Amino acid sequence: MKYRRLGNSGLKVSEIGLGSWLTYGSAVEKEKSISCIHRAYDLGINFFDTANAYNKGAAETVLKEALQDYTRSSYVLATKVFFPMGAGPNDRGLSRKHIIEQCEASLKRLGVDYIDLYQFHRYDHETPVEESLRALDDLIAQGKVLYGGVSEWSAAQLTDAVHIAKEKNLRPLISNQPIYNMMVRYIEKEVIPVSEKEGIGQVVFSPLAQGILTGKYKPNEQIPAKSRAANDDTNKWITSYLNDEVLTRVQRLSDIASGLEVELSQLALAWVLRQPNVSSAIIGASRPEQVEENVKASGLEIPASALDEVEAVLKEI
Ligand code: NDP
Repeated sequence: MKYRRLGNSGLKVSEIGLGSWLTYGSAVEKEKSISCIHRAYDLGINFFDTANAYNKGAAETVLKEALQDYTRSSYVLATKVFFPMGAGPNDRGLSRKHIIEQCEASLKRLGVDYIDLYQFHRYDHETPVEESLRALDDLIAQGKVLYGGVSEWSAAQLTDAVHIAKEKNLRPLISNQPIYNMMVRYIEKEVIPVSEKEGIGQVVFSPLAQGILTGKYKPNEQIPAKSRAANDDTNKWITSYLNDEVLTRVQRLSDIASGLEVELSQLALAWVLRQPNVSSAIIGASRPEQVEENVKASGLEIPASALDEVEAVLKEI
């Protein structure tokens, strides 16, 4: 496993990270969840991503159980705050009140003294950015959080936050967590250039488009059993990809991967990691074998000719 600095910070994260959305604490049973996390750790993954909102804290609780045997300094734990955790008007968003209260709740569920990377899960249009950045800065001063990041912020929102932090002498954000994969590339236009300029690293989510970029969903074939798309509790976000036109193109990407003697999952992960501003590709895994296959993407260089072939297929998607 190779490690990259997260933005301009000194923090090093594994090129492949492991997330827990729709898996641990929800669709994947506890024993299997723990074996996936242990396999990841054994294979050099040091970056574990979760959120308070993933099944209302249940994902964090599973991570606590899985990571408790390991030395705290050997892994980087990332969680998030923003989405509703209750029905009250203050049970959501990025107010100082909600951030401080949710940080305490996450620390308890995770069973740790500090969170390595605390991320604002979305931009909050109702709270001044300075209020949220100051709350984060205070948590860092108290030692409860080591670094701050955001998720799915636009280039303009990132730029604004950088300026406010500089002007008010608050600690800078070190990361952004956007979706990024062969089919969703909006960050290439503005988010990456701005982030490179401001020293913000990307830790990208759904790098396999939720499993589509493994090639296991095939045109004109049944959806494989025990997959995210086959489960009514988890298929809400994947269905838009499940049409013959997209899946036929994905088969062409599989052919390119075969030509390189790698799996499509590995090509897809190496493809997001070709961007130096991407510090980690955060995968999901419902079984340890998927972790084993996916970690092999770390350090995989894609030849320029294959990148051109991929680009030609993607232009049509
Ligand atoms: P992926 O694109 O990596 O999809 C993961 C899913 O694909 C797995 O759960 C598994 O599903 C399938 N899969 C993975 N590897 C393989 C393989 N080798 N062979 C076959 N199937 C495979 O990422 P996710 O969409 O799960 O997102 C990853 C993480 O990113 C999340 O856990 C979360 O931490 C973060 N995230 C953050 C968001 C944000 O707003 N900040 C939003 C979404 C995610 P199955 O076996 O069930 O088919």
